[in-house]
Amino acid sequence: MPTETTVFPDRAILHLDMDAFYASVEVLDDPSLKGKPVMVGGTPEGRGVVAAASYEARAFGVYSAMSAARAVKLCPDGIFLRGRMDRYSEISQQVFAIFGDYTPLVEPLSIDEAFLDVSGCRRLFGSAEKLGRAIKARILEELGLVISVGVASNKFLAKLASDLEKPDGFVVIAPDEARALLADLPIRKLWGVGKVAEKQMHRFGIRKVGDLLAIPAERLIEQFGDHAAHLLELAVGFDERPVIPVHEAKSIGNETTFRDDIADADQLQEILDQLAAKVARRLRAHGFLARTVTLKARYADFSTHTRSETLPSPSDSSIDIRDTTRSLLTGKLDRRGRPLRLIGVTASNLVHPGGGQGQLFPDPGRERDRKLDRIMDEVHGKYGPMLRRGSDPT
Ligand SMILES: [Mg+2]
Repeated sequence: MPTETTVFPDRAILHLDMDAFYASVEVLDDPSLKGKPVMVGGTPEGRGVVAAASYEARAFGVYSAMSAARAVKLCPDGIFLRGRMDRYSEISQQVFAIFGDYTPLVEPLSIDEAFLDVSGCRRLFGSAEKLGRAIKARILEELGLVISVGVASNKFLAKLASDLEKPDGFVVIAPDEARALLADLPIRKLWGVGKVAEKQMHRFGIRKVGDLLAIPAERLIEQFGDHAAHLLELAVGFDERPVIPVHEAKSIGNETTFRDDIADADQLQEILDQLAAKVARRLRAHGFLARTVTLKARYADFSTHTRSETLPSPSDSSIDIRDTTRSLLTGKLDRRGRPLRLIGVTASNLVHPGGGQGQLFPDPGRERDRKLDRIMDEVHGKYGPMLRRGSDPT
């Protein structure tokens, strides 16, 4: 077993994830709910979707993103709460303020989850483990809430570690034990291997992470293309992605310069639609929602104009991004038929969505769009079905 003396010679990364966050906040504010199956996001009549379930509710088989109708069947005496996003945001800010006391290198993954690069602060606070324990203790003492912590040499292993003994977990993966630990885990645990990729792997005879290493590299490349190398790296616990503080992820954009200037409105819109779809796909791949969409247009004389619009709510939906760029092109650009030589779309003011917590009040129409987007993401490109790449925003 690792001890307080586990040495991380290179990087030391923490992944911290609040346990059943929304539900735990509800219990915190109303102690009479303690020990009861609490579900946030659905109604007792079975409308909506469960955004978070207390561990007591999970014992009935309820999990987040399950329809409330199903949750009611599984757990008829459960307590369904509508949810108070403002309150969760308030606590989230307190949690992130505690993280910020230890390092500026905090990368939020969602409202209740973050990576911390603590490589540089060990001299000040002691080992990475001590630091992780200190944060865990402070969140319990100061906020009355429980957070699970993973300590490792990179993001992939840290996230894996925080999940291993949830709830109230604290797991250290020492650099020299990563490989053995990984070998026995189901392939699904590899970062980016979703349901579709898992099936593909199973068909290929790969069930455990270790199975991947037993297959000749050429065959893996044949099957999984460029991602084979990435998979193999993860399988041995290698992951060099940096922890990127949120302020550094500024925007995601794509633009294209035409060989011949284009004046035709339909043709421009078609190209713009494709760019918008690409930007939305990249947002989803990086786990971001955008608040602002910007259209960039360059005329034949090289004069360049940008027009922006703020979305009613942050989005990564292809349709939202497309519709916004369309309205910028036709409504705000004032092109008056002049030909363009370049057109571009940028999404900015990026935020991380609720992540694993799910959406509190999903609108059925929007949910349908999101499902479509997800299917399109899977269908898209040769390696589309394979991987959700990590969060290395550009
Ligand atoms: Mg959580």
